[in-house]
Amino acid sequence: MAEPDTPRVAALRGHVRQAAVGLREIGLEIDRDPTAIDRWLDLPAVHIMSGCTIPPEYLESPLRVDGHTYDMSSCLEHTVTIEELSYGDASFMLACPGPIMSGVTVGALGDDRQRDAYYRRMAAPEPVWTFFGLTEPGKGSAATELETVLEPDGDGFRLTGEKRYVGNAAFAELGVVFCRRAPGPLGIEAVLLDTDTPGFHAEVIPTVGMRGVRISAITLDHVRVEREQILGFETRKPSRRGLIGAIQTLQRFRPVLTGTAVGLCRAVLDHVRAQRPALHGVARRRLAEAQDRVEAVRQHNYAVASAVDAGRIRADRIAGVKTRAAELAERCTLLAAELLGPAALLEDPLLDKWYRDARAIEFMEGTGHIQRLAVFQGVLKGTFLDRAAGTGV
Ligand SMILES: Cc1cc2nc3c(=O)[nH]c(=O)nc-3n(C[C@H](O)[C@H](O)[C@H](O)COP(=O)(O)OP(=O)(O)OC[C@H]3O[C@@H](n4cnc5c(N)ncnc54)[C@H](O)[C@@H]3O)c2cc1C
Repeated sequence: MAEPDTPRVAALRGHVRQAAVGLREIGLEIDRDPTAIDRWLDLPAVHIMSGCTIPPEYLESPLRVDGHTYDMSSCLEHTVTIEELSYGDASFMLACPGPIMSGVTVGALGDDRQRDAYYRRMAAPEPVWTFFGLTEPGKGSAATELETVLEPDGDGFRLTGEKRYVGNAAFAELGVVFCRRAPGPLGIEAVLLDTDTPGFHAEVIPTVGMRGVRISAITLDHVRVEREQILGFETRKPSRRGLIGAIQTLQRFRPVLTGTAVGLCRAVLDHVRAQRPALHGVARRRLAEAQDRVEAVRQHNYAVASAVDAGRIRADRIAGVKTRAAELAERCTLLAAELLGPAALLEDPLLDKWYRDARAIEFMEGTGHIQRLAVFQGVLKGTFLDRAAGTGV
């Protein structure tokens, strides 16, 4: 199991930190024009993102540092990587090609043939963007009520419905669509879909922050789906497909997303320190307090990610640390705006961008209200607080 302080994780962190240098200026360009990512595809940061969660044997040049090979199958290593890239620029990181969340779903649900075909495509020398299509209009938080239908059609199926706020869908080559084959949560399936299939249409939704992720609206108009595109259809029972893949992906990814928030917080606070090295009195204390909170969330997140690696998937704790990190990202940008002076948001393009980007984290992978519901369930069951009793995460 990976631990935060091992030489292996330290080597990875050092490498990714180096790759993140210079991403802020590019991030500002991507904020102005999210398609600008196409000009930066040779950067080491893009190489790192493209290879995340792909087994090394598929890649011509897997990520190797100081004799260690990384494929981000470790949640902790993935979290550290995303935190450091987000310290460079979170929106840039999310604009990159690669498996991002779809790879985790295919890894969790796909059979050997499906995984092999997916990894081969992702390992191609040309950049491949993917998407993870769960949210629907009016069915964001209530994802189990999704209405996109998968109806029988001869020896295959037809997929019809709408998806919203799906990262990179308008630029993706393929992605996972969650849909309904039968009523109820166990009737949900995950389908691996090529975006050039007739009936698939996606367009970018204009947004204020985190513009690199190019959230898109998808329309699915009787899209043909073969049985072999349904993840795990031949090898898993219905109760071990679809919904369980969405849950496993979100739980595996929340510490990674929390890493995005932590990286952004660190960037903002370091920026304030660099801009105002002579801060003193209350202002200095408030900055130090914010730094302490970020460090606490960061360490907690590493503990949660390490627990995921050890197979201890605790929905309440994963949700708790994500909520705290999303709130902290907003608070850090507000504090920075206060400490840098009233005109900072207008005059400092980086702060203006971080301020907008931070607000997206609240919604990504479930809002604070939904995470708090998971925390309260843990409190009611008595599992959330047993950390205080020394059992750890
Ligand atoms: C930058 C970004 C990237 C995203 N990427 C993806 C992606 O790649 N794939 C994807 O599928 N989705 C993606 N999303 C969508 C995201 O998952 C949804 O925005 C989120 O789940 C909330 O859904 P919603 O926007 O429909 O809000 P709603 O569910 O309509 O919620 C609106 C408000 O009501 C509150 N609320 C809702 N239900 C309850 C309840 N039961 N109890 C208390 N309060 C409640 C919420 O907390 C929120 O404040 C992305 C969103 C963003 C902002």
